[in-house]
Amino acid sequence: MLKAAFPGSFDPPTLGHLDIIRRAAGLFDGLEVLVAENRRKKYLFSAEERAEMIRRLTHEYPNVSVVICDTLIVEFLKKQGIQVLLRGVRGMDDFSYEFELSMMNKTLDPRIETIFMTTDPKYFILRSSSIKEVASFHGNVSAMVPSLVAEALAEKYRALNY
Ligand code: ADP
Repeated sequence: MLKAAFPGSFDPPTLGHLDIIRRAAGLFDGLEVLVAENRRKKYLFSAEERAEMIRRLTHEYPNVSVVICDTLIVEFLKKQGIQVLLRGVRGMDDFSYEFELSMMNKTLDPRIETIFMTTDPKYFILRSSSIKEVASFHGNVSAMVPSLVAEALAEKYRALNY
């Protein structure tokens, strides 16, 4: 039984994230999506909102679960008995950051194996921060996120009086 964890901010989840989740669900027996809750980071959506969106978007995959993680990822993985940490990479910039992060995690816990999955070329420009920027100006993000996320973004920025 090989289980992997896919941690991230998912603020909000994009088609790029969902593509990685779909492909990983086909590779591993189980996949746990860890929604990061870091008190030092500012998010547009609460951890519960982000987790709920991913739950709704992945309900068709019986081996995918979604949990909120407010501790160090390696600590969380140790508690859950998960050894594989999955990260998506869009290009060299992501890779150099992700590579350093994986070295850090390996130092913290040598049992952790980081696996990188390359993005689908269709999604390599998708980035939560740029999508928020477009949505904040009421731009059309329907080719970048699932419709429930596009609606949640529009509603969020409406509530914030953008
Ligand atoms: P964080 O900002 O905490 O690094 P993100 O929510 O941006 O996390 O992303 C979570 C994971 O998904 C990261 O490994 C990131 O590289 C990956 N990812 C984000 N967007 C894409 C995409 N379009 N294609 C493939 N992987 C992606």
